[in-house]
Amino acid sequence: MQTQPKASHFIDGDYVEDTNGDRIEVVYPATGEVIATVHAATPAVIEQAITAAHKAQKVWASMTGTERGRVLRRAADIMRLRNHDLSVLETWDTGKPYQETSVADATSGADALEYFGGLAGSLTGEHIQLGENWVYTRREPLGVCVGIGAWNYPTQIACWKGAPALACGNAMIFKPSENTPLCALKVAEILMEAGAPAGIYNVVQGMGAVGAALVTDPRVDKVSLTGSVPTGRKVYAAAAEGIKHVTMELGGKSPLVIFDDADLEDAVGGAIMANFYSSGQVCSNGTRVFVQKGIRKRFVARLSERLGNAVFGDPMDPATSFGPLVSARQLEIVMGYIAKGVEEGATLVRGGERLDQPGFWLTPAIFDNVTDDMTIAREEIFGPVMSVLEFKDEDEVIARANDTEFGLSAGVFTNDLKRAHRVIAQLEAGTCYINSYNDAPVEAPFGGMKNSGVGRENSKAAIEHYSQLKTVFVRMGPVEAPF
Ligand code: NAD
Repeated sequence: MQTQPKASHFIDGDYVEDTNGDRIEVVYPATGEVIATVHAATPAVIEQAITAAHKAQKVWASMTGTERGRVLRRAADIMRLRNHDLSVLETWDTGKPYQETSVADATSGADALEYFGGLAGSLTGEHIQLGENWVYTRREPLGVCVGIGAWNYPTQIACWKGAPALACGNAMIFKPSENTPLCALKVAEILMEAGAPAGIYNVVQGMGAVGAALVTDPRVDKVSLTGSVPTGRKVYAAAAEGIKHVTMELGGKSPLVIFDDADLEDAVGGAIMANFYSSGQVCSNGTRVFVQKGIRKRFVARLSERLGNAVFGDPMDPATSFGPLVSARQLEIVMGYIAKGVEEGATLVRGGERLDQPGFWLTPAIFDNVTDDMTIAREEIFGPVMSVLEFKDEDEVIARANDTEFGLSAGVFTNDLKRAHRVIAQLEAGTCYINSYNDAPVEAPFGGMKNSGVGRENSKAAIEHYSQLKTVFVRMGPVEAPF
């Protein structure tokens, strides 16, 4: 099968296999078929990856930023040329429809490689004059960075972490989610083809235990995790033990606030983008949709009508616009939440049904009459389940929107310019949208407040999280000592 990887891991510039590791079956979510098998990294494989990364990092850091950037930009070009094949692989790995993967995954990974490739040559410290003395700062790499990925965007996450890390002169060891192990191997292959030194970007497979082994190794300097809040707590704590740098991209239960004066079609389109892209498996999703009283009924009716246009079918067919969930387990979790919503008294307007076919298919669900205390309004579901909550006025909705442990994203739909900015300024979230939702251009910082995360990915802000400053004081005159 074309998806069968050459081997499980990619270390020191080549594929590596160790069949002593636990078998991990890769299941195509659209059919439930096993399409590939990889093995979890054994301690020997982990050792090999850390040794290779450590060695390569010194070589890579000694190159100029322009030279490093050239490699990243070449890798971006290769990714764009192979967009079709990479998109097909992303669809095999995740089940997301090709209609999405062909425009949102390898393309977004290539954007990151291109953007950070462009920045690499401009990374500098500064000069601070102090009379005749002076200070200069050097922007230095951190060393070996570990990236740990979630399963919803395997190519994108591998690049969002790898590109800034490599631009700053670090080496990376990336552990993909055990649900989607295939795509990151291709990212590693492409970086090598583009001229990156062997060992600068490595991929090792495994479950949480492999991630934990990497995080606790004293030769690892930084950990960037994309995952759930409970995993984030564990990884953050383990990293703290070694005082390591961290970036935590965690979960959310984000508010999307729709005022009466919003353009109805835009607000409905925004709510669809905020809840049903990638079958709802997006961390920043605006799953608590607060709709003002005067527009709520029309909003729900139009939304329900537009959901009827979703096309289910073979994810490889470009006409298909809605795919399955990633795994049997995720399907079970999401169906559990739907049952809970009904049990707690929310109105299931449409959807939430399993399709009678193999694979992990579920129709997109809208709940109306949801109240703040319901489980579906409080917990991250990570599936195609939208909750509609009615509100009356601005102050009330701000307080309710902020009443959550999470703070990843937030959105506002209104045609009142002043209100849009006033409300966004008061929402406790790291990545916000006005009359839009879920755009993630590489030029803009992305990340969460509160329990949704620490640090930022993308943009110039990511450089701060993959480099450190060394301060050098230079005295030009004699040293005055007390004795
Ligand atoms: P998860 O937390 O179960 O797993 C994430 C990764 O962490 C996996 O690779 C897993 O193997 C690894 N892991 C698990 N335990 C570990 C440990 N003790 N030490 C080290 N690594 C460990 O998350 P998931 O189910 O794969 O993904 C869904 C979650 O990810 C959702 O909560 C979603 O919101 C979040 N997410 C966040 C972002 C973001 O950028 N903020 C993006 C995508 C997904």
